[in-house]
Amino acid sequence: MSVFESPSFDAHELVHFASDAATGLQTIIAVHSTALGCACGGCRLWPYSSSDEALEDALRLSRGMSYKNALAGIPLGGGKAVIMADADMKSAALMRAFGRVVEQLGGRYITAEDVGVSVKDMQYVAEETQYVRGLPHRNSAGGDPSPYTAQGVFLGMKAALVHRYGMADFHGIRVLVQGVGHVGFNLCKILHAAGAELIVADISAANLRRVQASLPVTVVGVEDLVAEEADIYAPCALGAVLNDDTIPILKADIVAGAANNQLAGLQHGEALRQRGILYAPDYVVNSGGIINVWSEMKSLPKESVCDKISRIYDITLRILREADEQGTSSNLVADEMALALIQGKAA
Ligand code: NAD
Repeated sequence: MSVFESPSFDAHELVHFASDAATGLQTIIAVHSTALGCACGGCRLWPYSSSDEALEDALRLSRGMSYKNALAGIPLGGGKAVIMADADMKSAALMRAFGRVVEQLGGRYITAEDVGVSVKDMQYVAEETQYVRGLPHRNSAGGDPSPYTAQGVFLGMKAALVHRYGMADFHGIRVLVQGVGHVGFNLCKILHAAGAELIVADISAANLRRVQASLPVTVVGVEDLVAEEADIYAPCALGAVLNDDTIPILKADIVAGAANNQLAGLQHGEALRQRGILYAPDYVVNSGGIINVWSEMKSLPKESVCDKISRIYDITLRILREADEQGTSSNLVADEMALALIQGKAA
């Protein structure tokens, strides 16, 4: 199948491949849609096993950004970058080379942090391009988006709790957090402060040590987490964790987490519904980070960001309610609402 026929391609406006022999950079930048504004989405650095895998990830992530930005009420299109590299290959020179590629696109794509990329990395990128956000500013919004993403995920969870149990009290609620990186760790802090009990898993021993050093968490193996008894499952690592293997063994009543593209396929939203598991769509609840990025673009005060993020609660609740009323899965309701906005129809 050619890339144009692949379901993930979905009429992308632009897919840009670039390399830099001096630094070993191999990157793919995907721009799904600029219907609502220039494309904006993070840059992921990951040791992909092949360029096909990297392309598939870039395409799925960039389409997700179109939908996310639309439902977050942000006038930005959807785009994403992936860099094929392991953490050891990352260098200031490689990030600068990536910055030069972003600059060549002349503003059609604006980059920021994602998995494997830090604020410091984005500062190197900023040495080569103006089309980068997620940079620290003294007097206005900006910097690491992950605390805001975590705050939004918490609000999405709250909406799911209200929808499911008619209450928003986290005391005694058991949450499985898969991945305690930038977002997962911040989410654990918020959940602990709210009274939740935390069960966590990660492939990174260093990130597990960090969370254990500051919070009372139970650590379980990455393979075992999904089958643990819990109220909420919060995927905060990579995508496709809701699939034919995991959905049958999932014991949680609610799925709400930061990871992008949690559903391996659209049908897995329905599979969750059939099992009576409430799914808070990923790109709806994880939009706090892009709301912070947008606030940075507009030089808004830091204090205004949380206020803007609070809409995640309302939109999540609305989607969960409409899905119930229509007898359909929440991911399809969210997709339909986002597409209507992108295509200029009221949602
Ligand atoms: P991160 O790289 O800081 O953290 C990811 C964590 O997941 C790491 O600790 C990693 O070791 C762990 N991990 C990887 N594979 C795992 C596995 N199989 N089982 C358990 N743990 C595993 O990334 P992040 O910025 O925290 O992002 C996490 C997810 O949230 C990603 O899917 C990202 O696209 C999404 N997201 C992030 C933001 C943001 O603001 N950073 C915004 C929206 C969405």
